[in-house]
Amino acid sequence: MNETILNIIALFNEKGNSMYGGEAVTQLQHGLQAATAARAKAATPATVTAALLHDIGHLLHTLPEDAPDNGIDDYHENLGARYLSKYFLPEVSESVRLHVAAKRYLCATDSEYMGKLSSPSVISLNLQGGPMNADEIEAFEKELYFKQAVQLRYWDELAKDPNMVTEPLESFIPDIEQSLV
Ligand code: FE
Repeated sequence: MNETILNIIALFNEKGNSMYGGEAVTQLQHGLQAATAARAKAATPATVTAALLHDIGHLLHTLPEDAPDNGIDDYHENLGARYLSKYFLPEVSESVRLHVAAKRYLCATDSEYMGKLSSPSVISLNLQGGPMNADEIEAFEKELYFKQAVQLRYWDELAKDPNMVTEPLESFIPDIEQSLV
């Protein structure tokens, strides 16, 4: 199997069982739930892969999982995007890079979205800069993968359900394979 895919599986095996910062799901469950939600909408392989790997940055750093409670922003979107950009199509790495900005964007532009945020997500929102202002919104909408990032963000919000049944990690390998550069 491709080395990048083996590395990603190893990373989930090694660190995927850690809890997803303050939520009732693990990092692996969170990724699988987001990817399953994407697949249910017949998303492209790259979009499904972005959903699966959007929080890989959390598995790449060594900060404690409650860092946001202690006022620390881990900038996991940049860490994850930098890693993914070496091996994956820009649709994957750019959607991941923008997925935190997409939260700030939706808080400013979708009146119902803010109510969907879990409380840990509200805490991290403040650390991440709060809802976007008008200039930030304008700049964000010019991003090439802004629509994909917004779509990913909705799946991210759905993926915090301790009772959701998902497909196993192995079932997403074909999507990952098709999203490699
Ligand atoms: Fe997430």
